Amino acid sequence: MSSSVSSGVAKSSGRDAGTKSAPGPILLLGAPGVGKGTQAKELVKIWHIPQISTGDLLRSNVAHSTKLGQVAKEIMDRGDLVPDSLVNEMVAARLLEPDTARGFILDGFPRTLGQAGWLDGRLAAQADALPVVAVRIQVDYNQLLRRITGRRNCPVCQAIYNIYLNPPKKDGICDVEGAALIQRADDTEEVFKERIHSYSTLTAPVVDHYRALGRFAEVDGDRPIAAVAAGVISAVEGLRNWA
Ligand code: AMP
Repeated sequence: MSSSVSSGVAKSSGRDAGTKSAPGPILLLGAPGVGKGTQAKELVKIWHIPQISTGDLLRSNVAHSTKLGQVAKEIMDRGDLVPDSLVNEMVAARLLEPDTARGFILDGFPRTLGQAGWLDGRLAAQADALPVVAVRIQVDYNQLLRRITGRRNCPVCQAIYNIYLNPPKKDGICDVEGAALIQRADDTEEVFKERIHSYSTLTAPVVDHYRALGRFAEVDGDRPIAAVAAGVISAVEGLRNWA
């Protein structure tokens, strides 16, 4: 299935030219495990704008035991959402970095209507900023469960494996570094179910929000990485009216 711009996209609203050299803010939406991070990295290669993953930023705060990290750790370990005020403040600081001037790819943010309202307001207050365009990646529930509970990371090179879908050559060992692979504390089945619950109750309204603004498209994420990336790119091009 190829990418499709949602039927809710109105030609007259929310379409902003941008340019391929300044794609503006792009939001990747989708349940845990749909491949937002993987796709963000593909878009980084094409558009040379940064990926901003709130999950990665929070994990880095946890690893460095910052004040935010100490508050966030327990919340993340049980699969709940970190409060909007803390996440918004963290994103605000990241958006001050000069590498975001031509655009950025948000991965895992906004996850609530409160975060979406904050982001829209922040961009609207900035004279030269394009509004967000949002692309949702869709993957079937059982496939997601295998992707999440099978995921293992190399703590040294950050390579990501999957014991069902993309296993390392030697059980539990990184092919490149020879390091013992680890499983994220929130990648267990129990926590996955909680994360899916948070996603359906809190993040689904974010989809409705951008759909109502005519700045939303969705792509089938149950395909090879390159095919999904092509779908996401053409969805963004359609929403930015480049096509
Ligand atoms: P992720 O890597 O995007 O799946 O995020 C991992 C965890 O970090 C989530 O389950 C939440 O606990 C937390 N998190 C990441 N992004 C956000 C966000 N935008 N708002 C609240 N919590 C977040």
